[in-house]
Amino acid sequence: MYITQVAAECAPVAKVGGLGDVVQGLSRELVRQGHQVEVILPKYDGLRLERLEDLQPAGEELRVPFYDQWLPCRVESGRVDGIRCFFIDPDSDHGFYRRGRIYSEVDDPGRFAFFSRAVLEFLLKTGRQPDIIHCHDWHTALLSVLRWEIHKAAGLDRARVCHTLHNPAYQGIAGEYPLRAVGLDPARLMTRERLLDQDNPHAVNLLKGAIVYANAVTTVSPRHAWELLHTDQGLRLRETLYTHRHKLHGVLNGIDEDTWNPRTDPHIVHNYGPEDLPGKARNKQHLRRRLGLAEAAKPIIAIVSRLERQKGVELMRHAIHYALGNGCQTVLLGSASEPWIEELFQEIARQTEGSADCHLTLRYDEGLSHQIHAGADILVVPSLYEPCGLTQMIAMRYGVVPVVRRVGGLADSVFDANYSDRAFEEVNGFLFDDPTPAGLESALGRAIRLWFRYPEYFRQLRLNGMYTDNSWVGPVRQYLDIFEAIKA
Ligand code: ADP
Repeated sequence: MYITQVAAECAPVAKVGGLGDVVQGLSRELVRQGHQVEVILPKYDGLRLERLEDLQPAGEELRVPFYDQWLPCRVESGRVDGIRCFFIDPDSDHGFYRRGRIYSEVDDPGRFAFFSRAVLEFLLKTGRQPDIIHCHDWHTALLSVLRWEIHKAAGLDRARVCHTLHNPAYQGIAGEYPLRAVGLDPARLMTRERLLDQDNPHAVNLLKGAIVYANAVTTVSPRHAWELLHTDQGLRLRETLYTHRHKLHGVLNGIDEDTWNPRTDPHIVHNYGPEDLPGKARNKQHLRRRLGLAEAAKPIIAIVSRLERQKGVELMRHAIHYALGNGCQTVLLGSASEPWIEELFQEIARQTEGSADCHLTLRYDEGLSHQIHAGADILVVPSLYEPCGLTQMIAMRYGVVPVVRRVGGLADSVFDANYSDRAFEEVNGFLFDDPTPAGLESALGRAIRLWFRYPEYFRQLRLNGMYTDNSWVGPVRQYLDIFEAIKA
């Protein structure tokens, strides 16, 4: 099959969170299984060019409509980890992708609407006829709408669109301007059945457009698909999702097993696998040295996360204090985009400054994230909602036992050591239900006690996690079934 991935992120060249990992891992496995794949991204000024090979112009300049102008747009192509990528680079005063960051600009709806339109112009101009255009999150939501309303008649009549919801809490809610900007008629499209936001009669909800217009809609775990339809996690999209439920599927993400492989990981000091757990101990030693923690018979409890409300920041704070109070060491790696959250963790960092048992690193640091997974014993993921979550899967691959809230993909990938009805070889962590300090302690307490009192059982849990198959092989087969079903 010929599949075009269109997204705002692709690791390692443009990554903010899990979306980047997923676009990379999914594309690589599709290629491995023999399919033709290309990824189209904006040409951000912050692209990690050192991870990009063979960057060169790809064909002639495009002209992409934006309001009443035709903006000139270069397209470049390059290879990222063996995957062919195209980068859309508009040459205009808007500087859409020259802002030093990927998101959080006031004109995000316009910047990404333009990207969707530019991608379709590129496909048309170069005569590409992919079987599937696979779009991700709200940033590329208008692509389904544009394809149906404009580009199908213009010649892009073969491609079908699959749209994946990675984080449906972000929906791209704006005034009518992104529609007008890319040549769509707001008066016709801003209806209850189409793109009108459910809660605001003057706003367009871009993600709603993708759900209405795409041929298939997926989210990143079966449990989250259920949550979207049957709980308040569907937010203002629940009604639309329910109407279109026949095309909604839940496919659990995988992790890229080359990027996240303790046997070959170049970021860690000592490579190891399940047959060499002492090798993990050497990484623990190194992590302690790097972060100024004491050498002691204590487990390291880790948190690696974007620091956002969704991720359960109050519970993270509680986890740090609880772990320290129960004879553990804790490390946190995270970056906050909101000032109050940054301040919350700066405060803990000040309180624990110079501590031999606690270290907080408040920034994005790819290398350190690998070293934490290699050195830690327990990873805490106390999310309030979590469509899939990748850190718990990464942790397991590195022999770290996850303690997670029973929500979304966390519930689909972690099976409780004490209360799961799965076979012993399949249990791999600890879960809790209530997003409260007591709830968290009910799981973290069990994990910590097991580490201290029953090291052999804890070791077995680590191994179960390391042998859990979270590769992309299975998920890609499920995506291919969905693609086959909608293909022309
Ligand atoms: P989300 O996509 O909601 O951020 P996921 O668990 O799906 O959450 O994916 C998070 C990804 O980002 C993982 O690869 C994780 O290791 C990485 N990550 C999160 N915060 C940081 C950070 N501060 N430094 C390095 N990597 C991070």
